[in-house]
Amino acid sequence: MLAYTYVEHGKFELRDKPRPVLRDARDAIVRVTLASICTSDLHIKHGSVPRAVPGITVGHEMVGIVDEVGEAVTAVRPGDRVTVNVETFCGDCFFCRNGWVNNCTDPEGGWALGCRIDGGQAEYVRVPYADQGLNRIPDGVTDRQALFVGDVLATGYWAARIAEIHPGDTVLILGAGPTGLCTLQCVQLLQPGRIIVCDRDPGRLAFVRAHAPQVLAVPPEGLPEVVRANSRHGGADAVLEVAGSPDTFRLAWECARPNAVVTVVALYDEPQTLPLPRMYGKNLTFKTGGVDGCHCGEILDLIAAGRLDTTPLITHTFPLREIDRAYDLFEHHRDGVLKVAIECGNADATK
Ligand SMILES: [Zn+2]
Ligand SMILES: [Zn+2]
Repeated sequence: MLAYTYVEHGKFELRDKPRPVLRDARDAIVRVTLASICTSDLHIKHGSVPRAVPGITVGHEMVGIVDEVGEAVTAVRPGDRVTVNVETFCGDCFFCRNGWVNNCTDPEGGWALGCRIDGGQAEYVRVPYADQGLNRIPDGVTDRQALFVGDVLATGYWAARIAEIHPGDTVLILGAGPTGLCTLQCVQLLQPGRIIVCDRDPGRLAFVRAHAPQVLAVPPEGLPEVVRANSRHGGADAVLEVAGSPDTFRLAWECARPNAVVTVVALYDEPQTLPLPRMYGKNLTFKTGGVDGCHCGEILDLIAAGRLDTTPLITHTFPLREIDRAYDLFEHHRDGVLKVAIECGNADATK
């Protein structure tokens, strides 16, 4: 089968590999129908994920059809359409039982797919702990609707959930990339009074205005003043930092009102500074990522009910054979790209 492979620092390549097989009674093999590319894939390509193993198949955002299950798998059966969770988790350790699946203590736990074990930019993928890692896609929900459930949409949902947002609040979201836009949709479910989205890119701001006209979409210049003018208590009641630069980290706490919750979803390249003397008396609460991606079933129900729709984020579609072109476009932000869908089914009729 075809599998997009991390060859060495700076190099991915579409290779022919054997189809994965079950290795554990809790595994499932999924025939991938649609996959996507995530910024984390680029981090692997450029060597900033040291635990990524050369030779592995990359990709951790995908949907597909269950092909085979181990004998201990009970939640899904062959033929089921499923989303695949970016995180592998046992469901049974202290952290999993508390819903903190990102910190699952299993040696295979955490972000393994497409990083430490073969992922899903391929025709088939082996999913460990399939009862936890797979969710059935409801009838009537398409692959394109479900594509981001296991990663960027799970992240947005988790972020909105922990941000302690109340009806009527002013919520500031920093960053309108794919994760920021997913976060925006999930924040909207909580019915805050005012949502402000900040991004440097005029194209992304235009996207927000087109798809969420009631949201205030603004550039970073003068942001603290804009936030103060649009909030009741001198700043945002909740801030979600989804951009990941030193500037956005600073804006996150500057724009927060006293006693606000600042949820840091972004992944930074460098350590950030908390200037505690300047913040003294603001009494902020910081919450930090990564995602506890264990609400995929709820997210799928919201999609089925028409309350979440991330299909507008899919700006481009390529077949698996042309995945190099898709990466080139995604990596260089060409042609207004937000997310790319990779069609993996029937990539090679001969297998
Ligand atoms: Zn990702
Ligand atoms: Zn666990």
